[in-house]
Amino acid sequence: MIAQIGIMCFGLTAVFLVARKDKWQRFGYIAGLAGQPFWFYTTWQAEQWGIFILSFFYAWAWAKGIYNYWIKDYHRHKWHVEKLLNDPHQIIFTIRTCEKCQAREILLRFKGWKPWDVIYPNLQEYEREWLDKTVPITPKG
Ligand SMILES: [Zn+2]
Repeated sequence: MIAQIGIMCFGLTAVFLVARKDKWQRFGYIAGLAGQPFWFYTTWQAEQWGIFILSFFYAWAWAKGIYNYWIKDYHRHKWHVEKLLNDPHQIIFTIRTCEKCQAREILLRFKGWKPWDVIYPNLQEYEREWLDKTVPITPKG
């Protein structure tokens, strides 16, 4: 009974987490591996040798996920920050790129306050304009 609860809790957590695309995805492999002892126990008890042997392959696959997402190439991002200003729309883009893995994040904020109909007079026009008028902000001093 305890084994079935363990399989259910860790198994469900594992599959839902590995399906994600955010930072929680890599926690799924830990949940998956944590569920394996319950598989070994319950299949041993029930003498289900096929699934017992299969459990070794599952454990190996979860462990490989932990190796790939927690150990191999794992690093703290080293951000290179670039700031761009779109003057007509008063938008500041902060673009940061990791020097190690090329991961990229773009944040934007509005400089001052403008009503939305002023910020977005026309979406197509806006797209064209921001490509033309977005320029790097050079640090002062
Ligand atoms: Zn990185």
